[in-house]
Amino acid sequence: MLNRVTTPKAPLDTMHLTQHFDLSAFNTMGLVSHAQFGAVIAERRQVDEVARFATSSGLPAHFIGGGSNLVLRDELAAIVGVMAIKGRNIERGPDGTVIVTAQAGEDWSEFVGWTVSQGIGGLENLAGIPGTVGAAPIQNIGAYGLELADRFQSLTAWDSVDHKERVFERDECQFSYRQSLFKQAGGRFIVLDVTLALPQEWVPVLSYAGLDNLPADVDAAAVMERVLAIRRSKLPDWHVLGNAGSFFHNPVVQPAVADGIAGVPRYPQPDGRVKLSAAWLIDACGLKGYQEGQAAVHKDHALIIVNRGGATYGDVHKLASTIKHAVEERFGVVLTQEPIEL
Ligand SMILES: Cc1cc2nc3c(=O)[nH]c(=O)nc-3n(C[C@H](O)[C@H](O)[C@H](O)COP(=O)(O)OP(=O)(O)OC[C@H]3O[C@@H](n4cnc5c(N)ncnc54)[C@H](O)[C@@H]3O)c2cc1C
Repeated sequence: MLNRVTTPKAPLDTMHLTQHFDLSAFNTMGLVSHAQFGAVIAERRQVDEVARFATSSGLPAHFIGGGSNLVLRDELAAIVGVMAIKGRNIERGPDGTVIVTAQAGEDWSEFVGWTVSQGIGGLENLAGIPGTVGAAPIQNIGAYGLELADRFQSLTAWDSVDHKERVFERDECQFSYRQSLFKQAGGRFIVLDVTLALPQEWVPVLSYAGLDNLPADVDAAAVMERVLAIRRSKLPDWHVLGNAGSFFHNPVVQPAVADGIAGVPRYPQPDGRVKLSAAWLIDACGLKGYQEGQAAVHKDHALIIVNRGGATYGDVHKLASTIKHAVEERFGVVLTQEPIEL
């Protein structure tokens, strides 16, 4: 349905809005998708302009970053703002803590590399995660034994309901496994910048398999190189084979459910429940390599859905439904999808 828009209150060109905005280059799954309107957001003021235009036109507004956690419909009856606001800086806190701030449109992995190249450790385990700084708090990105929340201090967001900037401290953000207040709030808060507090006395996090054999005197650059090497060896390069990383969350279940699934890797949680490997469950259903249209379960990584060339939203959606159905029928476990559908 593309006919709900009313006459815009301001000329589109002053807001840098483009009609029938092509999102194909703005999603790592490589899905062909167009938004009714779209803009690349290079300045803060554009965020409010786009939000107000959305209100006046009756269309929803979605603000995205690198599109690495998205499944896009072919046509979006929406206004999409691609966050590209740049800038980053480093300060020392009074106690010697390193305070690093980056604007939402900075590339996350480049930003991590930049901190490490300044001799600042603390983010190296999160190197190589695609996407932007502004999206990192949305699902509290995590990898190799570290989550964003472990290093997070605060963020500034645009409140698209109250039309003003708001600062969120760490304890307001409700971070948990791939969750945050911002994800729950359904797009109300648009992240403008993120501030991280990195420890003065750096201690490497080497608990994760593959990092645990690094020498005790390792530096942050060496940890980062190892993380990047592991990621390269494990994950398909989305530039070559479109994908959105892990397609399902690892389900957290009651111990009795886990007990009923022989052989499944289990990770006990503080609340007594057990996290299971979604990849193992999908693999056990014999779905590696399974294909719907041009979307397929990666032949080596059951948790990754890849675009084999020309996949559509419909292909991805059908494949994801098949996987969920198979896992639920065989194991009684409901998988939830990680990438957000727009
Ligand atoms: C190959 C691959 C590997 C991955 N590995 C990991 C991993 O190890 N760990 C992990 O946690 N994730 C991983 N991901 C998922 C993804 O990289 C992260 O979720 C990342 O933070 C998404 O950033 P993005 O800029 O691409 O966000 P997008 O995909 O553009 O958007 C994701 C969501 O965030 C919202 N959003 C984006 N920017 C803003 C903003 N400024 N303000 C408010 N909302 C915003 C969007 O509306 C959308 O709801 C991987 C993805 C891929 C493709």
